[in-house]
Amino acid sequence: MTGLPAPPPLGTAMLPPGTFEDRVVLITGGGTGIGKAIAVEFARLGATVAVVSRRPEHLQAGVEAVEAAGGRAVVARCDVREPDSVGEAFDAVEEAAGPVDALVNNAAGNFPGLAEELSPRAWRAVTQIVLDGTFFCSTELARRSIPAGRPGAIVNIGATYSWTGGPGTSHSAAAKAAVWNLTMSLAVEWAPHAIRVNGLAPGLFPHDDLPAALRGRNAPGDDPGRRIPAGRVGQLHELGWAATYLCSPFAAYLTGHTLVLDGANWLRRGLQMPEFVPVAEQLGPRS
Ligand code: NAP
Repeated sequence: MTGLPAPPPLGTAMLPPGTFEDRVVLITGGGTGIGKAIAVEFARLGATVAVVSRRPEHLQAGVEAVEAAGGRAVVARCDVREPDSVGEAFDAVEEAAGPVDALVNNAAGNFPGLAEELSPRAWRAVTQIVLDGTFFCSTELARRSIPAGRPGAIVNIGATYSWTGGPGTSHSAAAKAAVWNLTMSLAVEWAPHAIRVNGLAPGLFPHDDLPAALRGRNAPGDDPGRRIPAGRVGQLHELGWAATYLCSPFAAYLTGHTLVLDGANWLRRGLQMPEFVPVAEQLGPRS
């Protein structure tokens, strides 16, 4: 049983060089984890990347990653829960680099918790970052792009528990489900304005910016890939390729869709997952 193969290595080009030349791509939460990996892939393809989040150290990390890949980055401090802060961030990016052509709504609050133990503050923090933040950033782009006749592309980073719910994720799953739904409403409203809106739902993509509890390891040396049908976890640059594809001209007719990148894991999800047993073995001998 080999599972799904590893992807081509980090740094391999999927799209033609210069696909995003002269384009500005704003990524919320672009200074850590998945957002940073997506920022790097856009940078490799010629985009100017705007790294947007609250913490200066994260903004700095995003700039360093983009520059290490040979790209150009600008930053804006922003709390996506606040529409005024979002407007100011778009102003700052526009002044430094030009109008935003593509937006990746990636910011989120990631912490599991039992619903009955979540404080109202914790519930609001997660739902407002994920749902309100996605709405405020998306509408900010549309309000600037539609009157200017400028095409655009938006990618909303989701999660597969938006379809299933899941243990310990009532706040995040509810907000991500709403974003999945919003993706479709915005796609149909904005297609006439040449703005495409898609979603990208990652499975398990461990990285050093995540708290240990969310990295999927149950013990030192444990391989979380063993609990995934694909036999491996995702590599961050796979999400970078997917996000760049969704914003590229090669996806010109693709809108309102959420792409799942998870090695079939959402089809067998649980907070504590046993080792994956292939379905044929689960069914046992058959005639
Ligand atoms: P992460 O490293 O914790 O990234 C979260 C980012 O959001 C941080 O850069 C943070 O930056 C930013 N952020 C948080 N609150 C914000 C706010 N109010 N305003 C602006 N920015 C804010 O986690 P990640 O793993 O890369 O997750 C990225 C996305 O992938 C999330 O949408 C997450 O739900 C999704 N996802 C991840 C996985 C996975 O396996 N890693 C699986 C499924 C889905 P500041 O602290 O500087 O604001």
